[in-house]
Amino acid sequence: MSRAAIAKDLIVAQTRALKMPGLARVFEALGRQAREEHWSYEEYLHEVLSAEQTSRQESAVRHRLREARFPETKTLDTFDFAATEGLSAAQIAELARGDWIGRAENVIFAGPIGTGKTHLAIALGVEAARKRRRVLFARAADLVRSLLEARDARELGRLQRRLHYVELLVVDELGFVPFDRAGGELLFSLITERYERRSLIVTTNLPFAEWVKVFAGDEKLTTALLDRLAHHATVITTRGKSYRMRKRTERPEEKSPDATPTALPKSGTRA
Ligand code: ADP
Ligand code: MG
Repeated sequence: MSRAAIAKDLIVAQTRALKMPGLARVFEALGRQAREEHWSYEEYLHEVLSAEQTSRQESAVRHRLREARFPETKTLDTFDFAATEGLSAAQIAELARGDWIGRAENVIFAGPIGTGKTHLAIALGVEAARKRRRVLFARAADLVRSLLEARDARELGRLQRRLHYVELLVVDELGFVPFDRAGGELLFSLITERYERRSLIVTTNLPFAEWVKVFAGDEKLTTALLDRLAHHATVITTRGKSYRMRKRTERPEEKSPDATPTALPKSGTRA
């Protein structure tokens, strides 16, 4: 065995022991390049370490994306801003930078079904995960069910701690399924717990004035909840026809009942 071959085997074993797969992948090819181009030792070291650094960053992002449990991957580059009314591409791009997550602010997407609320919520979540934020996606009904189950199993504290660890919680489809009083209270305490500490994205098909229906008719709880949720929030109201319906161009446009929220604050208000 040549000295070079022995060195190579030793390096491969070391990259395993040190968990440096990025370096393992590139050190030989970069070694050849370094010899051809007469790099200094330091330049070579810098290049192999950069490869390891990039590989670690990528694997951290993959990990964050898996942890977030998005139902499907939706990104901003597949979103057609011309197809949904009420949106500003510049505003969404600004939100994608994620500074608001650092400030523990919220984003609320409200509007009729099929106008891209979930798509945008996932896309902003993906952007946050790419910036190594801890993100979790859950449908409102599933989240409340998990909270109720945890309470029954006397594991509520544990679940609450786990949720608090998440920097951006995406609560999708608030308003589709009403909660009973206990469920509403658990969601309320979650929102109170996150207030000014952790961010939320909420998507809803209901105007704020109708949220009380979701919370078992409890006006006081609903007002207090909305108060906390909307205090530091960007509210984005989507309008227009369902994207899926519009895509079926060959079929005559179906008239859907007008579910456009009426009592919502103006798009982009930041209270
Ligand atoms: P909502 O959550 O408002 O009911 P979704 O985000 O689930 O709507 O959108 C329904 C489908 O249409 C999804 O597959 C989504 O990717 C797509 N969609 C909606 N609006 C747009 C848009 N403006 N550009 C691209 N795809 C869109
Ligand atoms: Mg949706």
